[in-house]
Amino acid sequence: MKKTVIITGASGGIGSAIADAFALSGHNVVIGYNSSSEKAEALEAKLSGRGCCVARFKADVSCSAQAQSLIDFTKETFGGKYILVNNAGIAQQKLFTDITDGDFDTMMSANVKSVFNCSRAVLPLMIHDKWGRIINISSMWGVCGASCEVHYSASKAAVIGLTKALAKEVGPSGITVNCVAPGLIDTPMNKNLDKDTVSALCEETPVGRIGTPEDVARAVLFLADENSSFITGQTLGVDGGFI
Ligand code: NAP
Repeated sequence: MKKTVIITGASGGIGSAIADAFALSGHNVVIGYNSSSEKAEALEAKLSGRGCCVARFKADVSCSAQAQSLIDFTKETFGGKYILVNNAGIAQQKLFTDITDGDFDTMMSANVKSVFNCSRAVLPLMIHDKWGRIINISSMWGVCGASCEVHYSASKAAVIGLTKALAKEVGPSGITVNCVAPGLIDTPMNKNLDKDTVSALCEETPVGRIGTPEDVARAVLFLADENSSFITGQTLGVDGGFI
């Protein structure tokens, strides 16, 4: 049976590559987006132009009602078994002592509450099917910590903790829950990083380059595969050996 994948943040750099990879491999694809309507429309047009089954839905997934609407839309639009890729997220570089209450709450809402909201909304469908895949996009900074990105690092570490615990709870229902932890990836999220910072990170990376969105998409596709059913609660680094 054809499976349906819901990708949050599919209007962004990594999310659009994930959508592309799943569409090419024959899945129904729901493009989740929030403010980037034009990018989401262009991606939908590109994928449907190739004959892929694709739909898009606008939702701020940090809001539980909107996350629920995204899942309801998916259920009404496509049947099949479900794969959820919790990819939506934000980043911010600031000295720890400059982080405001608002910065911290916004980071946690976009990066952690969103994962909670979408996973909680989709799980009844997966439990009914006795099959499901949840793949959360964390970050290598959630594993090793980044200076001047303490709230980002904390949010991504929380995603890893959520993943490990949820994997234990839903494993008996045939559902796996895993994380991908990318290193530095060439996307709009990093447009504020200066050249020297990017070069320094490349030098520290054993494979000597920054990653591509496609590097991450291939890892997500692997974890979603039928044959990955004995892998759960794991964090797969896609970081060129940085950690
Ligand atoms: P990006 O190009 O900036 O894309 C971010 C995406 O998240 C956009 O599609 C954005 O949607 C969506 N988003 C943000 N807040 C949202 C919300 N409240 N509700 C719904 N959608 C929301 O960034 P990216 O590099 O592709 O990042 C994707 C994921 O990978 C993030 O979780 C990020 O933390 C993680 N990651 C990235 C890197 C990297 O180096 N790029 C490294 C490690 C981990 P709209 O634009 O439509 O609002």
